[in-house]
Amino acid sequence: MHSPDSHRFDPPWTPHRRGWIEIVCGSMFSGKTEELLRRVKRARLARQPVLLFKPRVDDRYDEVKVVSHEGLNADALPVASAGELLARVLADTAVVGIDEVQFFDDAIVGAAEDLAARGIRVIAAGLDQDWRGRPFGPVPDLMAVAEYVTKLHAVCARCGAPASRSQRLIAAEGQLFVGGAAEYEARCRTCFEVSET
Ligand code: ADP
Ligand code: MG
Ligand code: ZN
Repeated sequence: MHSPDSHRFDPPWTPHRRGWIEIVCGSMFSGKTEELLRRVKRARLARQPVLLFKPRVDDRYDEVKVVSHEGLNADALPVASAGELLARVLADTAVVGIDEVQFFDDAIVGAAEDLAARGIRVIAAGLDQDWRGRPFGPVPDLMAVAEYVTKLHAVCARCGAPASRSQRLIAAEGQLFVGGAAEYEARCRTCFEVSET
């Protein structure tokens, strides 16, 4: 049976250093950032050089941390593109974490594959669906090429069932609208209301 912790993933032991891609996806509030930070913390405990990245979606100020909804946080490097991310990876980097990966363009797929081919463990967390319930940016392609995919669920704000979708509560334009608990809530398939606009 499905246990609450069945999504927990820890990398397999390998005799040689080999790279691979892990995707952590799900709706808003499903615990993607918590799970990414958990994996990153364990890699650091194993003394593996880790770099944590996030997309620079807002140029007005540099967010230099990855932060979960409960306030868990870790220092992160904001990057404007997949190319900038690749350029900042160091010769000794063993693990690359990426949060909010849905905000990168499709070049992030090739970048993740390049890193994995170089022996790096890539852990990318992001929304698999946008506010309309449609596949979000590069995440579907990343899921396809990843070795490991973890799909997390939030708790539906309406009925308490496992939630797979992010309901936008206010009128706003576009996929890129970034918000928190005041703007979005987690919903299950039944309670999710598809937007017509
Ligand atoms: P994500 O990165 O997927 O948006 P976070 O890891 O930042 O999620 O936050 C997960 C935390 O959000 C949970 O541990 C819980 O404290 C909080 N939370 C708030 N609303 C919900 C909800 N509806 N379902 C589950 N967790 C929620
Ligand atoms: Mg998050
Ligand atoms: Zn529901």
